[in-house]
Amino acid sequence: MSAVMEPPKGNAAADYTNQILNLVKAKNPAEPEFHQAVLEVFESLGPMLGRHPEYREARILERITEPERVLMFRVPWFDDKGTVQVNRGFRIEMNSAIGPYKGGLRFHPSVNLGILKFLAFEQVFKNSLTTLPLGGGKGGSDFDPKGKSDNEVMRFCQSFMTELQRHIGPDTDVPAGDIGVGGREIGFLFGQYKRLRNEFTGVLTGKGLAWGGSLIRPEATGYGCVYFAQEMLKSRKDTLEGKVCLVSGSGNVSQYTVEKLLHLGAKPVTLSDSDGAIYDADGIDRDKLAFVMELKNNRRGRIQDYTGKFKKAIYSATDKKLDHNWLWNIKADCAFPSATQNEINAKDAANLIKNGVKLVSEGANMPSTMEATKMFLDAKVLYGPAKAANAGGVATSGLEMAQNSMRLSWTRQEVDDRLHKIMIAIHQNCYETAEKYGTPGNLVNGANIAGFLKIANAMLDQGLV
Ligand code: NDP
Repeated sequence: MSAVMEPPKGNAAADYTNQILNLVKAKNPAEPEFHQAVLEVFESLGPMLGRHPEYREARILERITEPERVLMFRVPWFDDKGTVQVNRGFRIEMNSAIGPYKGGLRFHPSVNLGILKFLAFEQVFKNSLTTLPLGGGKGGSDFDPKGKSDNEVMRFCQSFMTELQRHIGPDTDVPAGDIGVGGREIGFLFGQYKRLRNEFTGVLTGKGLAWGGSLIRPEATGYGCVYFAQEMLKSRKDTLEGKVCLVSGSGNVSQYTVEKLLHLGAKPVTLSDSDGAIYDADGIDRDKLAFVMELKNNRRGRIQDYTGKFKKAIYSATDKKLDHNWLWNIKADCAFPSATQNEINAKDAANLIKNGVKLVSEGANMPSTMEATKMFLDAKVLYGPAKAANAGGVATSGLEMAQNSMRLSWTRQEVDDRLHKIMIAIHQNCYETAEKYGTPGNLVNGANIAGFLKIANAMLDQGLV
């Protein structure tokens, strides 16, 4: 594909988006998750692009799919045996039109450039929806914290930050956690940044409470995802009270999704990790959740141990040969996918719909394949796409940044109230935008168009940069 592009030909918005999608595929080969994320957004933009020729003239689609900067670096470290290990580190600085780059760091063996580009691209739109001044970015490493000692994780984090610190800063790029990066990792990363730069700033979010963290940040993604579900149900005059809920994953997002579901009188019945899933028909109550938090956050054990403690629960190991996930075939009212991308395929979506699921609120990023998403929309399931439903995490990171700038800390109640109001505002924005552009109830279109408009207008205002 030539680096010199011809002006887009043809008038139909679909021609234009197809043309740019093909360009994205040609320029970024072997990055299927990135292509999927771009396609999902482009499919929503058609009706809006027809009304706004200025975006096409300014080549906003070409610009918005090209990261402002991609950093890729070597991360060497010593394991406990004194052997040299080498991982790869990344930071994608995707778009800074409305604020400093903001987005998590993922440490997982599956991490590669394409996955991080999909996540960074999604993040741009999500952050735009939060109502806060946050640009979009994402980063991480193919380092696997599982089975590593605390000292190994610390040495890795220090080596990773030794390079990353050149590129980030409280007004430039503010990373946070994601899969495999929780409070422990943020602590080690922050310590090394402070040591190298000799400054105590809000350069990371998800910090400990004693050193600049915000109350409610650990809870925010899960709580926010449930607040978003509440708003979706409200639009059909329904509530979460008594609803049986499937939750996947058992990490940060899953744990606080379960906690908020319990606050609101719902009955969560499942959790999982990459090895398998548990089903507890009696419901995962507060005591059982406390056990899971201790198991996952301190003992760093496997979800299978749940059935050792709570004998009536059932465990099913992950079967990669199966064409569907056992967890999504359990009868329930609502589903909260909170583990990872593409964890709900078309067969899973069919099972969920067949079993009467009325609502899907996405805690994980892009957990549903394109086919699954279409099936939910066609079946009129209340469907909260990730970039709207899980935006509470980054929104509360934005609140952490605000508190750091003021050198003040808000109370738990104040942060939770702000988070709740933000989730209500995001739902309203998606809902109204979907209606305005002719697809009422389609929150995928609502989220993509509303997220896009704010970024695109800021890019127009700032000239060709
Ligand atoms: P955690 O690392 O705390 O937990 C991730 C959970 O998902 C673990 O139970 C993990 O199991 C499971 N998991 C990870 N990869 C896979 C896989 N390939 N197959 C099956 N299970 C898997 O991460 P978070 O809870 O922070 O993140 C979960 C999702 O939420 C991700 O998609 C993330 O991008 C998204 N998200 C997170 C936000 C946050 O604030 N933390 C904000 C917005 C979105 P195992 O232990 O076996 O790996």
